[in-house]
Amino acid sequence: MSSPTDQQPAALETLRRVFGYDAFRGFQQEVIEHVTAGGDALVLMPTGGGKSLCYQIPALLRDGVAVVVSPLIALMQDQVDALTAVGVRAGFLNSTLDVDARRAVERAFVARELDLLYLAPEALGTRGVQHLLDQGRISLFAIDEAHCVSQWGHDFRPDYLALSMLHERWPGVPRIALTATATSATRAEISTRLQLTSARHFVASFDRPNIQYRIAAKREPKRQLLALLRDEHPGDAGIIYCLSRATVEKTAEFLVDNGVTALPYHAGLDAVTRARHQQRFLREDGVVMVATIAFGMGIDKPDVRFVAHLDLPKSVEGYYQETGRAGRDGLPATAWLAYGLTDVVQQRRLIDTSEGDPAHRRNLATHLEAMLALCETVRCRRAQLLDYFGETAPACGNCDTCLQPPESWDGTIAAQKLLSTIYRLDRERSQRFGAGHCVDILLGRATDKIQQHRHDSLTVFGIGTDLSEAEWRGVVRQLLAEGLLAVEGDYGTLALTDTSAEVLGRRRTVMLRREPARKARPAKPRGA
Ligand code: ADP
Ligand code: ZN
Repeated sequence: MSSPTDQQPAALETLRRVFGYDAFRGFQQEVIEHVTAGGDALVLMPTGGGKSLCYQIPALLRDGVAVVVSPLIALMQDQVDALTAVGVRAGFLNSTLDVDARRAVERAFVARELDLLYLAPEALGTRGVQHLLDQGRISLFAIDEAHCVSQWGHDFRPDYLALSMLHERWPGVPRIALTATATSATRAEISTRLQLTSARHFVASFDRPNIQYRIAAKREPKRQLLALLRDEHPGDAGIIYCLSRATVEKTAEFLVDNGVTALPYHAGLDAVTRARHQQRFLREDGVVMVATIAFGMGIDKPDVRFVAHLDLPKSVEGYYQETGRAGRDGLPATAWLAYGLTDVVQQRRLIDTSEGDPAHRRNLATHLEAMLALCETVRCRRAQLLDYFGETAPACGNCDTCLQPPESWDGTIAAQKLLSTIYRLDRERSQRFGAGHCVDILLGRATDKIQQHRHDSLTVFGIGTDLSEAEWRGVVRQLLAEGLLAVEGDYGTLALTDTSAEVLGRRRTVMLRREPARKARPAKPRGA
């Protein structure tokens, strides 16, 4: 074991000789020294920050074999190949191996002929693997994607909960947990659940200055997307996230029909197709992956030039992680999200109808509200995003609100009109009405449904002709985002909340964001 004074040269020497890099990035060196000396560490670094070296170099400097726990079974082969290519002795054990290959890796582990052994979390729970680990010498445990232990996150893996036993069973072995999920809540949860209470925390800045954040009003999402690809990212590799498998398929088809090399990726495709699409995305230039959030964790493709969301992410954590897959090479990249009223209604409904106890639903709602606040903000998007992760930052000059500051307007009267409409409808308890119907009433449209329910005789009928339909939908969306309005039940019925009364009683003003005027496109008629 090296002493503290000669560690730095050893770490730096290894970085240069084995990995071929000149210098450490950020606090890599501090983490490496701490873990090499036997300390526990919790490392929070954005995607692309260089987390892997934080355990790979200690693995080379310490005696024995480093055990790396990773949920990314599909990527283990790639990780091991990359290490083998630079002369590091690495192997993995997971369900994809046949008996002979597994035996060979096990033998190498016991004989200490490996520097790193990658394991799936579920493997650690088995007696066979625990017995194997007892027979070898473990230099350290690295727990990658440690946020998977968080039950609130969308990457939750129940097998991660059992990882607290590492500390009990092998108390003398240092542990390093790593994640790109940054909130202090997640950090605290990782600490507790993995029993990392005495670990040193290394928290990097989560700013990704080369990513330009943009959130656009959703009009014709596929057309808007195509314009983005054609105008700004022709021939570039990118990822497009959609909520449902059906939207993934339709969007990929649409792009292919329009000459884009696009591939679908979702959990409904068979494993062979998924692997093939992933390989093409990684190896070929300019492939656009249209995917559900099942795609992307651990994908190390440096030149992803854009990440587009056609549906609203469920949380700022998810949004940050997904957009973080853009521009890992540090060159300019775009994070673009199309967001509309339907997204809010849909997400609220998903939460209301979700399984789980009220506390869980409340938690989901809180996460969604933070995401909505990011969409509706008139502040710098980056400043708001970093704020969410506990960092303060000045306006960035490289996001849509900085580049084209949105105006805000006093929407108190509009909000009162809308809320009164909902109040009147709410009294007809037998019937429930959604946003579209409310807007029709405000605009004074005598639709069949309105005539059928005699809503043309309501006093609020036609009192909102000063705003357009799009503007009214904006009002609904923003009131939902602020919690001044709620969505109930399976049909997206609008309902008043406890705070609605403050607006109706004129005790509260409502400032709303005016959408930046739509860029004129000469080829198309206005409003198309
Ligand atoms: P993360 O796991 O944090 O997303 P990685 O460990 O995959 O990031 O590293 C991202 C990229 O940066 C990789 O291609 C890696 O080889 C490279 N990298 C990491 N550390 C350094 C460094 N000190 N100098 C140069 N490149 C580095
Ligand atoms: Zn900005």
